[in-house]
Amino acid sequence: MADRIDHQRPKFEVETCSEDLNSSRIRILQIEDNPFDAEILVVCLDQTCYAGSEIVKHEAISTAKEILPREHFDVILLDLSLKDSNVLQTLSCLNEFNAFAPVIVSSSYDDKKTIRKIINLGAEDCLPKIALNPSDLERTIGYAIDRWNLKCNLYNTNQRMTNIFCGTGIGTWEWDIQKDIFTFDTVFAKILGYQPGEFVHLANEKWKHYVHPEDQAQSNELLERHFSGNCDYYECEVRLRHKNGQWVWVLLRGKLITRIKSTQPDWMVGTLMNITERRQEEEARRIIQLVYQNTSESIMVTDVNNCIIAINPAFTKLTGYGEKEVIGKNPKILSSGKQDQNFYRDMWESINTSGKWEGEIWNKKKNGEEYVEQLNIDTIHHSNGKVQYRVAQFSDITEKKFADSLIWTQAHYDPLTNLPNRRLFTERLDQAITDTNRSGRHMALFLIDLDHFKEINDALGHHIGDELLIEVAKRIKNCLRKSDIVARLGGDEFTVILSQLESLSTVDHIAQSVIDYLALPFEVEREKFNISASIGITFCPDDGITIAELLKNADQAMYEVKKNGRSGYSFFTPQMQKTASKRRKLSQMMRKALSNNEFLVYFQPIVELQSGKIHKAEALLRWKTHEYSFVSPDLFIPIAEKTGAIHEMGEWVLEQSIDEVIYCQEKIHQDFQISVNVSPVQFQDGSKARNRWKDYMVSKRLQRGIVVEITEGLLLKGNITVADKFQSFQDYGIEVAIDDFGTGYSSLSYLKKFNIHYVKIDRSFIHNIEQSNENQALCEAIVVMAHKLGLKVIAEGIETKKQQELLLKLGCDYGQGYLFARPMPRKEFRTYLTEYEAMDSSSGISEKDAVNVTEYYAM
Ligand code: C2E
Ligand code: CA
Ligand code: CA
Repeated sequence: MADRIDHQRPKFEVETCSEDLNSSRIRILQIEDNPFDAEILVVCLDQTCYAGSEIVKHEAISTAKEILPREHFDVILLDLSLKDSNVLQTLSCLNEFNAFAPVIVSSSYDDKKTIRKIINLGAEDCLPKIALNPSDLERTIGYAIDRWNLKCNLYNTNQRMTNIFCGTGIGTWEWDIQKDIFTFDTVFAKILGYQPGEFVHLANEKWKHYVHPEDQAQSNELLERHFSGNCDYYECEVRLRHKNGQWVWVLLRGKLITRIKSTQPDWMVGTLMNITERRQEEEARRIIQLVYQNTSESIMVTDVNNCIIAINPAFTKLTGYGEKEVIGKNPKILSSGKQDQNFYRDMWESINTSGKWEGEIWNKKKNGEEYVEQLNIDTIHHSNGKVQYRVAQFSDITEKKFADSLIWTQAHYDPLTNLPNRRLFTERLDQAITDTNRSGRHMALFLIDLDHFKEINDALGHHIGDELLIEVAKRIKNCLRKSDIVARLGGDEFTVILSQLESLSTVDHIAQSVIDYLALPFEVEREKFNISASIGITFCPDDGITIAELLKNADQAMYEVKKNGRSGYSFFTPQMQKTASKRRKLSQMMRKALSNNEFLVYFQPIVELQSGKIHKAEALLRWKTHEYSFVSPDLFIPIAEKTGAIHEMGEWVLEQSIDEVIYCQEKIHQDFQISVNVSPVQFQDGSKARNRWKDYMVSKRLQRGIVVEITEGLLLKGNITVADKFQSFQDYGIEVAIDDFGTGYSSLSYLKKFNIHYVKIDRSFIHNIEQSNENQALCEAIVVMAHKLGLKVIAEGIETKKQQELLLKLGCDYGQGYLFARPMPRKEFRTYLTEYEAMDSSSGISEKDAVNVTEYYAM
């Protein structure tokens, strides 16, 4: 078929077939350079039915060619040999002329072969120049015109068909069943990706390879039904192989045109249409439908009037409503009543403006059960923009929600006290700060730390500790308004946020009531306990406006309470801030101090008051920084305790003291003792540290000579294990002294329980002992009681001869102070001892020797 379409040909327009041959006036183009021949033809024509026709004469091919496209002729009479064109040239123009009108060649050749050739080249007929007669001329012209018209009609019909097929993308095919050959047109070829002419015909066997294997059986069956007469035509959708190897969905339609002996199929024609897009759309629709039917997500479609028009099986599964129960109804049937009108108003506002809504909503199932759904509403619009459908997609998230809320609770609340934990507290504090900024009202932050909680916990067990914490949480809560927030930051640390304060004066009141309330005895497992708390308080925005600032402030204020003997509250002040920032700086510097060898141990002699002998000394730590010169131990020891650096430092001091006491025992006296200050923090380290001390002493072969100075506080923690620790000291030949005696609880009878050897009266009592009868009486009492318990007494900070004499009179055993000597570096200390030994010790020390040296610059 492809061969039969010739796109090169000009288009013809012929309305009617030939008219009555008897009286036709036509328009003739005569191309003839021989006037004689021309004249004969005219004469001859006059004797035919074409007499009187208009004859336009041209002698040359070139001029004839010029007018042809402009003028209409019914027939062209052409001489082959012309002035400007020989026979061959003229013959090559035949096709060109033929496009405008039928061409009759008048020639002198009359052999059949030549005539045939001329006709094959496009002429309608040939007329002999010799013996031309009117009847031949009339018939030749008449037939030429008729034939030409028929050809034009056929061509136009063909062309129209081709246009139709091309335009609609329908390819055509023919199947010569007997010869088993398939023939295709260009559209067919194009659908399969071939150029015109590249894919024209194939043997049926070959053609089969172009059909998808899965579609062959169905195609064959349908073909058989058509051949057997069960079906008027063949129609089948199959996949054909495209030139690029992919499959193209096509619709094949065909009809058997002829049969041999009216039975055997002979010739079949048909069409082919590319339906890939349609099939893909159908496939997509099918998948969508499949998803719609099988998804676990519930889907509900409503129309513009908000009436349900479709639901999927998941909808029924979740809500319990079947199609019949909901179609045509308003989605309100699912309403739980848990959301108020405002909720739905906002929801519809969003749907109406953006077409969408997304969120969580409580709905009700058919059986009345309420559930939370994650709902997504979308809108489908008409092409004119008007709302067509709303599609609601939702799923039941009730379980997840509960799981989430449980996880949330676990993540935000302290399981023991049910109070917000640090995380939630931080969120709340952040909120409170924002509220403060907005309202202009004040907010107070409390940091509450229970005093000595750790000891109770260690001594009585964690379950009692837990009970106590629960009770503490309740008590703190009871002192506050409902709107205030109490949180547990961890351990025994609680915090309170008092927001939207009317007046700051109420804060004192609340803090005091927390302290008083916590001071009431607790009863856990029929045992009564007393506990106290230290509270640091800071205000927002006065002291700070960030979480970090406020927490730091409250911590500093609390630190201040602890420092001043605990059990109380303190407000944050800018001075605290300064001290704290220095402390921070020192703590940073301290990290490197040990490795930089910035620490030194000084030794201060302790004098036996009766004999004036010096067989004891106290080791005192010194820190000489590059930046600040000496830093007071009163400043850096608490920091070292807090950062834990005290462990390393303490061990180092002990080692230095062991080395020194070995020297002194060798050079001065075999009973020489050096006392070392040990921080309570060092006792929290278990027995590891003490084992190391012992190992060091053993390695140095020191059996005795070390005295450990501890403060009363450690004993008051009522911890039995402390007694054990002292016992283990005894085993290593270490003695124990109670330092700063008189500043704490000062219960000598309490000391009985422990293995104590010395009591050191705090220098604050010595300082004004001459003036204060009270202090004198106190010192006397301490001496008497201590002696009764078999303990020796050391008086600290003796600066004057009078103090020395008084203390001697009171029966005090030893004295230490600037009167005798200030703390000295090792070398100086050794020289001092040697010189002192050489001197008559009873000659005493004069006051002028006791230079009040500032050993370091307090920061
Ligand atoms: P402390 O144990 O009460 O030590 C005695 C303090 O009194 C020393 O202060 C000493 O220099 C000072 N002092 C001695 N005689 C006089 C005097 O006549 N008048 C006055 N006003 N003061 C006198 P220092 O060396 O500043 O130590 C302060 C505190 O730092 C010590 O008090 C002790 O608690 C602690 N400390 C010092 N070294 C260490 C150590 O190695 N480890 C531990 N954990 N604490 C230490
Ligand atoms: Ca001491
Ligand atoms: Ca002391």
